[in-house]
Order: sequence, then C-alpha cells, then structure tokens
Amino acid sequence: METGALTTHSGRHFLQIPGPTNVPDRVLRAIAQPTIDHRGPQFAELTLDLLRRVKPVFGTNGPVVIYPSSGTGAWEAALVNTLSPGEKVLAFETGHFATLWRDMADRLGLAVEFVPGDWRRGVDPAAVAERLAADKEHGIAAVMVVHNETSTGVTSRVPEIRAAIDAAGHPALLFVDTISSLGSIDYRHDEWGVDVTVGCSQKGLMLPPGLGFNAVSAKALRAAEKARLVKSYWDWTPILEANESGNYPYTPATNLLYGLGEALRMLDEEGLANVFARHIRHAEATRAAVRGWGLEILCADDREHSPVLTAVLLGEEHDADKIRSIILERFDMSLGAGLGRLTGRVFRIGHLGDLNDLTLAGTLAGVQMGLELAGVAVDQAGLPAALEVLRAG
Ligand SMILES: *Cc1c(COP(=O)(O)O)cnc(C)c1O
Repeated sequence: METGALTTHSGRHFLQIPGPTNVPDRVLRAIAQPTIDHRGPQFAELTLDLLRRVKPVFGTNGPVVIYPSSGTGAWEAALVNTLSPGEKVLAFETGHFATLWRDMADRLGLAVEFVPGDWRRGVDPAAVAERLAADKEHGIAAVMVVHNETSTGVTSRVPEIRAAIDAAGHPALLFVDTISSLGSIDYRHDEWGVDVTVGCSQKGLMLPPGLGFNAVSAKALRAAEKARLVKSYWDWTPILEANESGNYPYTPATNLLYGLGEALRMLDEEGLANVFARHIRHAEATRAAVRGWGLEILCADDREHSPVLTAVLLGEEHDADKIRSIILERFDMSLGAGLGRLTGRVFRIGHLGDLNDLTLAGTLAGVQMGLELAGVAVDQAGLPAALEVLRAG
C-alpha cells in the first residue's frame, strides 16, 4: 500500500477500534477463494449451510436475513419491513448510534419519541415501563434499543427491557441493534423476545465490513405483512423465498459469505460461552488499567460496562484526538475517536473480536505510553493492574 508521507512501521498494525476489528488470517484466506456462480449448486449449498450455522450467534431458531450492506442498511431493513408511515416508535438517547438510528426513523417518516439520555448510561428499563404504561391506546409500534452503544462503551440490559415491555402488557415490537455485540456479548434473540435483531459483519464477527443481518421473529414477519413503508432492496419477502433453495434475488457478497463460514467455525471452536467470557475478562483488565491511570471511564453504571470496548473520558484540558494521533504515529495503533457530542472528549479502546491477552497487554502499554507522551498525568500503576487481571486468568 502507498503510505505517502506517513511513517512506515514494522510488524502488524494494532487496529484497536471498536469496529472494524482485526480480521483473522483464516478468515482472510477463506475470502480469497475464487468467486463462484451464485446461481449454481455449490453456492446454494454454501448458503443453506450458513443460514443454519449463523442462527446460534443470534440465539434464534428463526430466519436470519443476510444483506450485502453496512450495519446502517440493516437498521433501515428492520424499520421498513415492519412499520408504516407515521407510526410511533420509542427510542432512547444512549449515544451517537442510538441518535443516528433515531434520525433514520425520523427521515423514513416515523414519529419518534426519543427519551433523552446523558450518553453514560444504557436504556433505563423503568423508563421503558413508564412510557409504555402511559401509552394506553398502544400507539407505540416498536421500541428501538442499541444493545452495545459503541460510542460510549455502555451495554443496555435487554432482558430487563423485555421484562418492562411485558410488565406493561404492551404489544410493541422490540428492535435491538447488536452491531457491536453480536458474537462478543451474550445475546438471545428468541429467549429475550426480540422481534428484529440488527447485526453486521465487521465487529464481533471478525469480518471485513459488508454484511448486514436481520434476525426476524414470527411476530415481526406478521407485522411485515401489513407494513407500508416503501421498500424494495430491503424487502425480506423475496430474500426469504429465495433463501429456501439457497439463493438470493440479487448477487450476494459471495466472498464475504466464505469469510462468514470461517468466522462461524472459529466461534464454534472456541465456544460462544468462552468467547463471551474472554471479552468480559479483557474489559475488566482494561478498566483496571484506566482506573490505575487515575482516569475516568465514561460508563456511569457498573451493571452496564461494555465487554467489547472502553471509553475513557478526559478532562477539558486534554484533546483526545491529539492523544490518538500520537499513538498512531508512534506505535502504529488505531484507537476509536469520540463521536458526536463526545468528539475530542473521549477515546475508545476496542477489545473485541480476534484478540488475546498479549494483544490487550500491548494495546494498553501503547495507550499508557501515548498518554504520557501527550502530557496527560497518569499513574504508571495502570498497566500492571491490567496485567494482574490477565495473569489471574
Ligand atoms: C458500527 C455501528 C453501527 C453502524 O454500522 P455501519 O456498518 O457503520 O453502518 C450502528 N450501530 C452500532 C451500535 C455500531 O457499533
């Protein structure tokens, strides 16, 4: 690759942003296989196998629609397949991604009630219960929740949100964005009664960007029969029909599907429960480092710390983007930027996907040195505190 004026570095780049994540060599090799005829028998066999093997990651026995798309596309698919113009949806301001999804619903002609938030907490189940109980006419058609808010490092408690909807006796559909949690954080589409789960390829699934997912409940399929928002490309119906014989109504992202097959194999080999435990442990080590440095973690509720990324909040006197650029230049490591109203105020350490203890140790060593180089007064006890968590196993 032409690097222009950038310094060249030896060794591997540290891509420690919360998506896209590092793509394992095995997955890259799978993607490098020759593209085949997507209308031939070999492709149909591949699709049928994948559509079956992808279900456990969502915790579902129902259909999963796979789009050649970004996560944003899969967001749109969830809305346009199930809702009609002017219908009410309830959303929560947990951070940048929740805000973008709200904006999309707004542009699509839905009436969004957006419950304000301080970008340091997840969706409050009590607020869900309260809003739905107040909606006596059952005008709210859907509740939109971002499971893991990637801009803040806060994970909402979906089972408690489900319980709140049930306690209110409200029939609203439940939509959950699992774009940065799928394959990294325990998630159960069926058990938690989620109607549409939105996912994509480039975060916990360890793939390059380019695949979007909708896991769809029977209730969502029934809603789709009367939904009137305009849709064509995103329409589930022709896709699900074609999928029955292992086909697509358009040219699918064949090579990314090869990659998905390999990524699912890797998750299977490690075991999903072990994958989830690894992410929780790495998040604990990261928080030990941040606290050891004497810095503040953005997530304000101990029940909601994200297993996949940690957002570090800096004082007004520091520019988080400056620190990130020093770390990129000196140590060839990319960290996540503050998004939206957190621009310049936070940096985000991604610890999801294909990662091990030493990847994390190296990451945190780079962050500590970068903070020192940027003139942030940090206690050097941060890194050893993280290593202690890793050593304990
Ligand atoms: C990354 C992300 C998105 C956006 O996905 P794109 O593939 O960039 O469209 C949406 N929601 C969350 C929670 C994300 O982390």
